Amino acid sequence: MSFTPLVEPADELSIDEVRRYSRHLIIPDVGMTGQKRLKNAKVLVIGAGGLGSPALLYLAAAGVGTIGIAEFDEVDESNLQRQIIHGQSDIGRPKAESARDSIREANPYVNVVVHNERLDNDNVLGIFEGYDLIVDGTDNFATRYMVNDAAYFLKIPYVWGSIYRFDGQASVFWPHAVDEKGESVDAPCYRCLYPEPPPPGMVPSCAEGGVLGVLCASIGSIQVNEAIKLLTGIGDPIVGKLMIYDALEMEYRKLRVRKDPNCALCGENATVTGLIDYESFCGAISDEAADAAAGSTISVVQLEQMLKEREEGTRDFVLVDVREPNEYEINKIPGSVLIPKGEFLNGSALEKLPSDKQIVMHCKSGVRSAETLAIVKGAGFADAVHVGGGVVAWVNQIDPSQPAY
Ligand SMILES: [Zn+2]
Repeated sequence: MSFTPLVEPADELSIDEVRRYSRHLIIPDVGMTGQKRLKNAKVLVIGAGGLGSPALLYLAAAGVGTIGIAEFDEVDESNLQRQIIHGQSDIGRPKAESARDSIREANPYVNVVVHNERLDNDNVLGIFEGYDLIVDGTDNFATRYMVNDAAYFLKIPYVWGSIYRFDGQASVFWPHAVDEKGESVDAPCYRCLYPEPPPPGMVPSCAEGGVLGVLCASIGSIQVNEAIKLLTGIGDPIVGKLMIYDALEMEYRKLRVRKDPNCALCGENATVTGLIDYESFCGAISDEAADAAAGSTISVVQLEQMLKEREEGTRDFVLVDVREPNEYEINKIPGSVLIPKGEFLNGSALEKLPSDKQIVMHCKSGVRSAETLAIVKGAGFADAVHVGGGVVAWVNQIDPSQPAY
């Protein structure tokens, strides 16, 4: 189904712009009118990271007249494997500024608006206001639900993408979409597809699980493709459809996503009528894990001391790393044994644990080890503890010679 173009055409293109966009202008579906619509378009990209990098560059090259960048983070060396809008000399710079400079280099006719701040309930509607659509490159659930809700309240399309290892997904959520007669097409929102966030700790982030760098280009370019179609009114945007991409099988699948009549946001008896507390909705950590970790969390400095005492023979305990084997290959706390979290979930880890020694657990950042701590304490290991900040804190504070990831 095609939709009415989101944007009216600009008055004219300059001679320079005609030269620059000539390969668009000779496509009949885009043509001069479509290119003028792009010139008048205002697109906000959330995050100048894995998805935001290709999305921003292609939106800019395509001639989208105004591009907003909402990003508060700084460029880190571990970003450069996929975040191609930044370069070596940008390490340590605000990502929003680095991205702005790259866009200016790609296309000086683009007006770039930098929002170098963290999106929250106080600023999100104000920042979104005036943009024709939102391209989302965030990697956390709290922000996604907030972006979905804010876009819904402003009635603008939400072009969503998600990546993990070799798998990507994309869709356009736009419950206010109407057909050419002006009638609702009953399109879903993000909450129709994902009514509730996954339990904390169940879905690893890219920082925990990794992502194939080039996957960002595959999904980011789908997002730009859909944005261009919506802005110019061409083709059949994936409104009400979910694209699923498997890079290993090289397979794209397209599934229908129906509007949920009981959706808390866009359903008939909506309960979400304004922005909510998204952090507590998504929860940083489960209640069980938070209870287990309270009073049973040690610092990496304490752990270092404990390891010294173990070496001297004045203390005994078992240090368990609950990450995955490939993470353990990257860095580790010396003297730890690897028992991945899955073995705690299926119960097989418990028989590997000595009953006469204290159990000390750690993971990458402290989320997974809090979950396993709850399981171990529940099994009777009352003096078990976990390490706050995990191996990330260990590398930062104790042993910077090891690589971080
Ligand atoms: Zn909905």
